[in-house]
Amino acid sequence: MELERSPFVRQVRSPRKEIALTFDDGPDPVYTREVLSLLRQASGRATFFMIGQQMESYPDVVAEVAAEGHEIGNHTYSHPYLTRIGAAECREEIRKTQRLIRKLTGKGARLLRPPYLDVGEEVVRIAQEEGCTLAGAMNLEARDWEQPGASHIYERSLECAVPGSILLFHDGYGDRRQTVAAVAMLIEKLTGSGYKLVTASELIASATIEEGKMA
Ligand SMILES: [Zn+2]
Repeated sequence: MELERSPFVRQVRSPRKEIALTFDDGPDPVYTREVLSLLRQASGRATFFMIGQQMESYPDVVAEVAAEGHEIGNHTYSHPYLTRIGAAECREEIRKTQRLIRKLTGKGARLLRPPYLDVGEEVVRIAQEEGCTLAGAMNLEARDWEQPGASHIYERSLECAVPGSILLFHDGYGDRRQTVAAVAMLIEKLTGSGYKLVTASELIASATIEEGKMA
C-alpha cells in the first residue's frame, strides 16, 4: 500500500552547518576502515547502517567503528525487502540486528534504514514498535551502489549538501573504491567550507532542540 507521506527522516531544520554522512551495507574490513580513516582526518563522525550478517563476520570492525565515536544503525540482519516478508520475520530481522549491535557496542540502534528504503504501513509500524526512527537520505541521485563514477557520486551528493541533510553512501557489498574517492572529496569540500560532520542521531537531536527553542 502506498504511504501518504514519507516516513523517512531525510533532512532536518538545522541552524548550524551540520551534515550527516551515512554508510550502508558494512561492516567491510577494507572499505569501512578506509572511511574511518577519512573521518578521523576530518575529526568527523558518521552513522554506519550495518547488516547483521556482516557484523557477525567482522565484529572487530564493528568495535572499531563504535570505539571511534561513530553511530551504528540497524540495516536488518540479512538485507531483505521488508515488504516482501511476513510481519514476524520483519520484526526478527530488526531485533536480531539490535541484539548484535547491543552485544558488540553496549547499546542498541536508534535508527533503522530498511534495505532499498522499502517500506509499507506495516513495516513503518513495526519499526516504531521496535523503537527505531527510519533514516532516509537526500542524495539518492548519487546512486553510489551502481558505481557511476566518483565524480558523479561527489557532484550529485554535493548538490544535496545543505545544513541538516542526511547523505547516503555504501561501505560494503561490492567494490566501493568510487564511493571512498567521492567521500574523500566531499569531506574535504564540506569541512573546508565550515561544515561539521555529525551522526544522524546527533543531527536529529540538535534540530529537535532548536525547534523546541523556537516553539
Ligand atoms: Zn543496503
